[in-house]
Amino acid sequence: MTVAVILKHKGSQVETLRQAATLQQTVALLSSKRIGAAIVVGSGGEVSGVISERDVVNALAQHGASAMGMPIENFMTRGVVTCRMTDTAESLMEMMTRGRFRHVPVVEGGRLVGIVSIGDVVKRRIEDSDLERHAMREYITQAG
Ligand code: AMP
Repeated sequence: MTVAVILKHKGSQVETLRQAATLQQTVALLSSKRIGAAIVVGSGGEVSGVISERDVVNALAQHGASAMGMPIENFMTRGVVTCRMTDTAESLMEMMTRGRFRHVPVVEGGRLVGIVSIGDVVKRRIEDSDLERHAMREYITQAG
């Protein structure tokens, strides 16, 4: 299963922020969209960072409530690991396990075209194995 197949089901919507956005704006976005991370983009739409709930927790632990008014450039992770449409679900799981993160933006030709979370990968794999089980059952009952 490829990233292209996962995005075909979940869509290409990605929530983005500029690095001048505050932590307050970030938690508002993560909460209203019910997501765990947003991608930080530059003026040309290029990926410049990622900010996730983990970064919010670390920011609050370090600065207390005053972190909420600070720009996310202070807290985001730079050097974002990205993937392509042709990457497989297995290679994404390996990337996530090795890097200890749960979100991977999809970039094609320098453009952000989607995001895949560990939840998206697990959901597709469960759906695939359900389909496979159903097909096996049909095959066995028809063969009998
Ligand atoms: P997450 O598990 O996605 O909430 O992220 C855990 C940590 O990894 C946070 O510090 C994120 O900023 C960072 N992170 C999340 N996704 C990526 C990624 N694709 N590449 C590099 N760092 C990431």
